[in-house]
Amino acid sequence: MMPQHHQPGTGWIEVVCGCMFSGKTEELIRRLNRARYARQRVGVFKPTVDVRYAVESIVSHGQSALPCVPVSQASDILTLAADLEVVGIDEAQFFDASLVRVCNALADAGKRVVVAGLDQDYRGEPFEPIPQLMAVAEYVQKTLAVCMQCGAPADRSQRLVARDARVLLGATDTYEARCRRCWRPDLDETQEALPLGTGGG
Ligand code: ADP
Ligand code: MG
Ligand code: ZN
Repeated sequence: MMPQHHQPGTGWIEVVCGCMFSGKTEELIRRLNRARYARQRVGVFKPTVDVRYAVESIVSHGQSALPCVPVSQASDILTLAADLEVVGIDEAQFFDASLVRVCNALADAGKRVVVAGLDQDYRGEPFEPIPQLMAVAEYVQKTLAVCMQCGAPADRSQRLVARDARVLLGATDTYEARCRRCWRPDLDETQEALPLGTGGG
């Protein structure tokens, strides 16, 4: 699954995607740390909208972390990554469609580009630009969480509070991972107060 047979000088795109708590950031950090051990020039970027934990780090829910550069738009990465061999991008769903052009340009310039992001929003809709990025990537890995209701492999983010905004930052108080069967996309205020663990079918 990891790249093995690329010619020197040839870049490529790897996408790591899945629901919240599925280990996207952990997997991104693992791949980038291996490249750092191999003394490759590695840089990590994230959109400035993601300020949940540390402004200048990417941090997983399991608390592993890596220093990063927050950027307000995807095209900022082009200049900042000029001297890098490996470019990591976390929370990529918060960038606009231009991220696809940026990642292609970086890979065309010979860089390894590792991108992590949500593939679905809380309604289960494809979360652009991740689907577009999956289409042009050489490698795609879907990470799965454990369903908080039944323990099955989980690929959906259950919002635990009724809000209409597509972007609602938060962690375990706001979202939990659920499988297809236990996931309830149309949560409303009457269900919001239900204790966790009562929604299993
Ligand atoms: P992501 O970036 O996909 O949101 P992270 O890499 O930040 O995921 O976090 C993954 C970690 O989240 C796991 O190693 C585990 O410690 C924790 N975690 C919390 N809830 C769950 C869950 N339901 N399933 C799996 N891991 C979970
Ligand atoms: Mg993450
Ligand atoms: Zn379930």
